[in-house]
Amino acid sequence: MDGRTYTAQALIDLADPQAVIAELCNHMREHNAEISEESGDVLLRLSGCSARFSTEGAMTRVDIEAPDFEHLYFARLTIASHVLEFAGEAAPEIRWSGDHGDMARPPNFQILTVTGCRDVTPHMRRITFHCENATRFARLDALHLNLLIQQPGLAEPQWPFVGTSGIIEWERPDLKPSMRKYTVRSVDLSTGQVDIDFVLHTDAGPGSRFAEAVTVGTEVGVLGPGGGGLVDASWYLFAGDETALPAIARMLENLSADAAGVAYLEISGAAEIQNLRKPAAIDLHWLIRNGEKFGALLVEAVSATPRPQGDKNIYLWAACEFAAFKTIRQCARQTWKLKNEHHLVVAYWRDGKTL
Ligand SMILES: Cc1cc2nc3c(=O)[nH]c(=O)nc-3n(C[C@H](O)[C@H](O)[C@H](O)COP(=O)(O)OP(=O)(O)OC[C@H]3O[C@@H](n4cnc5c(N)ncnc54)[C@H](O)[C@@H]3O)c2cc1C
Repeated sequence: MDGRTYTAQALIDLADPQAVIAELCNHMREHNAEISEESGDVLLRLSGCSARFSTEGAMTRVDIEAPDFEHLYFARLTIASHVLEFAGEAAPEIRWSGDHGDMARPPNFQILTVTGCRDVTPHMRRITFHCENATRFARLDALHLNLLIQQPGLAEPQWPFVGTSGIIEWERPDLKPSMRKYTVRSVDLSTGQVDIDFVLHTDAGPGSRFAEAVTVGTEVGVLGPGGGGLVDASWYLFAGDETALPAIARMLENLSADAAGVAYLEISGAAEIQNLRKPAAIDLHWLIRNGEKFGALLVEAVSATPRPQGDKNIYLWAACEFAAFKTIRQCARQTWKLKNEHHLVVAYWRDGKTL
């Protein structure tokens, strides 16, 4: 950071500005944004950035302030994508002016090169990538990335660029890559390499197929890292299936030695058990699915876990298939009554669907 404030402005022609701004604010509250009103303007604050919505003639004016270039990029992207989503069919034009209006590639984009591959267990393939900038992936509060998997047979890969609206665009939208989210399992800053563990699943989509067919030297674009990682607490409940195993394993390895709690990892069979490093006071339970419904054992285990008593600083982190996610989130919010800052429950995939 260079101590200055980065700004961007846009005038947007919204048919129903109040409804769009209200929907956007409601949505951003879910992400812990602070919303206030000042002299008739709506002010939204999140992650050190602010967005002010005011009226200029018949237009809605948005003014963004951010502490650095990358935050400005994300603030523009977030506002533009949600305004377009909530404006529906009307799809107004958004054209930002201000700092770095001419940025080309997203600042969180880089190209990784495959340097190695091995199977950790029969259905978990670890791929090692060399990065232009591995330091970006060393943070523990942002564990995942978006892999841009090119369509088969392309002569020239399609890489993303930033449109005037602040949203990612493609030279050939019909040939744009498939995006799939994966977790950075480990980072080696001395070699500039990261490991990603891929579940090799039936009904393989682009992500699983990429891992099955990968060869050394393959280049792949990534956008990241993204949020949803380790939060300071004294007592943890972790729950996840094999897609969340890389994230939970990385968090367990990086907890302070006196951290306590419980971790439930649901896997397809005993052959998928891995040797994980963890603090002594975290009880690790492997739940063997043996053909049962995805996530059922996780739901059972979380539901049967009593909420710790006393003034413990609790954090519940869970990621799994969509149906189990819904029940576990309900348990976190309604049974355990955890506030947003004390839990993160996410669907990492959805049976029979592409997320
Ligand atoms: C933040 C985040 C981090 C993630 N980290 C990882 C990670 O580190 N490693 C990892 O392997 N996955 C991870 N996932 C999950 C991964 O993104 C999904 O499993 C994704 O669907 C895989 O894409 P695909 O192209 O293989 O399948 P898709 O094209 O998405 O789906 C094709 C079919 O496969 C099914 N399917 C998808 N995943 C599974 C599965 N695990 N088991 C059985 N069937 C499945 C779908 O239901 C669908 O029917 C993460 C997801 C999120 C949101």
